[in-house]
Amino acid sequence: MNLAHRVSLIKESPTLAVMARAGKMKAEGKDVVILAAGEPDFDTPDHIKQAAIEAINAGKTKYTPVGGTTELKQAIIHKFAKENNLQYAANQVSASAGGKHCIFNALQAILSSGDEVIIPAPFWVSYPDMVLLSAGTPVIVSCTIEDKYKLTADKLQKAITPKTKAIFLNSPSNPTGMVYSDNELLALANVLKKYPDIIIITDDIYEHILFDGLQFKNIVNVAPELYDRTIVINGVSKAYAMTGWRIGFSACGNTSIIKAMENIQSQSTSNACSIAQAAAAAALNGGHACLQVMKDAFLERRNYVVERINKIKGLRCLKAEGAFYVFFECVDAINSLHQAGKIAQKTDLAFANYLLENFLLAGVPGSAFGLDDHIRISFATSMEELAKGLDRLEEALNK
Ligand code: GLU
Repeated sequence: MNLAHRVSLIKESPTLAVMARAGKMKAEGKDVVILAAGEPDFDTPDHIKQAAIEAINAGKTKYTPVGGTTELKQAIIHKFAKENNLQYAANQVSASAGGKHCIFNALQAILSSGDEVIIPAPFWVSYPDMVLLSAGTPVIVSCTIEDKYKLTADKLQKAITPKTKAIFLNSPSNPTGMVYSDNELLALANVLKKYPDIIIITDDIYEHILFDGLQFKNIVNVAPELYDRTIVINGVSKAYAMTGWRIGFSACGNTSIIKAMENIQSQSTSNACSIAQAAAAAALNGGHACLQVMKDAFLERRNYVVERINKIKGLRCLKAEGAFYVFFECVDAINSLHQAGKIAQKTDLAFANYLLENFLLAGVPGSAFGLDDHIRISFATSMEELAKGLDRLEEALNK
């Protein structure tokens, strides 16, 4: 079968692939500990589920405007004003089937063939492939553990060319959990101010999962001059434990970008699910009490996982400042397993496979996020599962 050329440029989403593989093993009766999934283990709060039930009963089961119901758009506008101090009108926001869909629409709307998109690595696995699907060229900028895996102004400056069309920012970061400080964002903004044609895509999906008293800011908060050319991506999936509902939203000062994204959506999926939209509006309008419960649990788990990982020989990790991932470096562990003949290649992929096949522990290899010799584990799962998973990791390296 001759498939489209674009298909040859991409691969299956590695996060979803690991989840599918581990899920299949579990369905076969194997006691797999799955620390791969980037989704909260909590149930969607009751008041949100209730809003969906009411929407069904009220017959809200028809098409809605492509970019979202008036009710949802108002909730999004209110959320940005109240939580982020960002003012948008209805034609500057749009809802889609998840943050991932928003990013895809955004790239489709802004990229022409050969346009370059700067992606700081480690990155969320789908950014480069979505750029490729939109005929763009990903420009990966490696950020090291010494820089806390964050892009510096100097590296950004060096990566910019006349073809640079856009840049991704993601804080708190998936997979590293690192958060950009105001000064770090400002340093990046000062570089970007010199290039008025570069569009910034800020993926703020982990905004509400922040630890140690950190306050969320994105680049527009520290550099309001970038308002027109920054596409803010967010959604209800991570904060409100609503991954399956598939509601994300985008905002941009420049209305033509939002309009283009809605046109693309009108020719592909049309509106996001009407019932999920009603639930998302209830989530955004419903206050933060339900978030705190989850945040407290994530904090306890973060502390536990970071402490244990750093006690295991051959592994080291930074303390995640947000999101629900620990991204640990495992070069020494890989080398010793290779030396002992346990893994054939000195790669994080071989290490991750070894853990899954021999110790029934699923994590996602760092190479999928653009940085070798690392593994991402998610702590969005119960303490019991985490303890079991870390026991297995310890056993794998002590054996
Ligand atoms: N964003 C989550 C993750 O990184 C969900 C899976 C995905 O779409 O990548 O695990």
